Amino acid sequence: MKIVRVGLKENSYNIYVGYNVVKDVPRYIKENNLGNLGIIITSNRVYSLYKDLIKKIFKGSNYRVVCVADGEAAKSRKWLFEVIKKTIDADDWNKKIFIICFGGGTVGDLGGFVASIYKRGIPYIQIPTTLLSQIDASIGGKTAIDLKEAKNILGTIYQPKAVFIDPSFIKTLPSLQFKEGMAEVIKYGVIKRKDFFDFLKNKHKEITSLTPEHILKLIYVCAKIKADIVSSDEKETKGIRTILNFGHTFAHAVETCLGYEKVSHGAAVSLGMIYAAQLSLFLGECKKEDVEEIKNIIKLYELPSRIKFNPTTFCEAMSYDKKFISGQVRMVLLKSIGAVSVTDGIPFKNITKTLKKFAQQLRTDNSSR
Ligand code: NAD
Ligand code: MG
Repeated sequence: MKIVRVGLKENSYNIYVGYNVVKDVPRYIKENNLGNLGIIITSNRVYSLYKDLIKKIFKGSNYRVVCVADGEAAKSRKWLFEVIKKTIDADDWNKKIFIICFGGGTVGDLGGFVASIYKRGIPYIQIPTTLLSQIDASIGGKTAIDLKEAKNILGTIYQPKAVFIDPSFIKTLPSLQFKEGMAEVIKYGVIKRKDFFDFLKNKHKEITSLTPEHILKLIYVCAKIKADIVSSDEKETKGIRTILNFGHTFAHAVETCLGYEKVSHGAAVSLGMIYAAQLSLFLGECKKEDVEEIKNIIKLYELPSRIKFNPTTFCEAMSYDKKFISGQVRMVLLKSIGAVSVTDGIPFKNITKTLKKFAQQLRTDNSSR
């Protein structure tokens, strides 16, 4: 088992990464006196796959299982109050309640949010089961639910007491879900570690065939990168955590223009990373080969590298993004593979020009195929 530390003074915690780490959770709860009643929040699909494991590990009357909807539907007003109601029903004067989020990023975001507001905050643990939640969502304490007006509009930053990552959960993940996570995995290589980027490139076969040692390394490195970034800038006030948004400005425009149901976040991030790299090239920040490297790895992992879009509509969508502070454009730009910078004050006309060029290039790419 490997341990990654998230250093946040009194809110510091460990991320335990390893096959079978989940069996250590009850001992951790006992040793750290987390409480005597655990509400296990999970989703229907995860429960149907891991019911026996959950029952075996969390034995006795000290646990209650609450199953929520699969996918984004769980991050809703309906499920928020459903979970709170079940928690109140189980609560008693002699109970010290805590939460265990056992599932993907949606379960983690919802469960973490409940933990942060129930009785003004109770402890919680993350047991992420998708690749995306293991390398991203379960680390850093961002919790949220959606309203129909906007995604992640109600949320808090509230750190878990511990994160237990067991890579074997990945085995039951549909391949589309795996790819979804790979887009953010590639992002870590691009923003922080060239050697990791090369590992992803060279060990593609081992990774996609889920060779245990390669998957373990992949998750560990990503968890470490995210933990280090969060440790230096928990509340995103120093511009350090901002680098995690690499490719996300364009990705949000893709999601807004095409609709969340039509394009997955991973696909949008893949396209967003290519766009961000091309903008960086246009601004003289990186080399052409770096842009090609990013395109190639995205293709290697069978993520989308092309999309038909109208530059004018995209510009409008991008200008609504919260990073566009009063007409000033803030973007995470590529310097080289493994290094990015947060740049303010990029003229909007450069964004537009690159978008037009990008759209044009994709048309030419398509016609030459
Ligand atoms: P998800 O939680 O919706 O899970 C996807 C599907 O896979 C669900 O149907 C789930 O039941 C199922 N599933 C989960 N584990 C499985 C397994 N081991 N085997 C088979 N099926 C399994 O999706 P996700 O990609 O994990 O998370 C996406 C969410 O994470 C989004 O809501 C996003 O906003 C959030 N997110 C949060 C942060 C953060 O910092 N808090 C960061 C990134 C993303
Ligand atoms: Mg993302």
